[in-house]
Amino acid sequence: MGLLKAPENTPVWVNESRCKACDLCVSVCPSGTLAMRLDEHKVLGKMVEVISPENCIGCCECELHCPDFAIAVADRKEFKFAKLTDESRQRAEAIKANGFMAL
Ligand code: SF4
Ligand code: SF4
Repeated sequence: MGLLKAPENTPVWVNESRCKACDLCVSVCPSGTLAMRLDEHKVLGKMVEVISPENCIGCCECELHCPDFAIAVADRKEFKFAKLTDESRQRAEAIKANGFMAL
């Protein structure tokens, strides 16, 4: 799926010009694939980042929850996604506990 053109061999990607850094995608990602990073050039001083693409399970929760159509997930026919592991779950919880910021 996805409204944006996919970079090659990438499970999930962000259109930074659309993203308003609301944290929503990070809050719903079960695998700790996404986190916010500090970015002084952005209005809110932060930006979402795909920190762990190899752990993306392709659930599309990020894309479905983004109010600004700023994040997109590859088509299951075109990308082999990871399985959800305990390590991924724990990273996701740690990121949430860290105010959605990368660890
Ligand atoms: S598709 Fe699912 S696992 Fe992948 S970044 Fe989005 S919410 Fe996280
Ligand atoms: S939900 Fe959308 S607008 Fe909000 S941080 Fe994620 S990509 Fe950016």
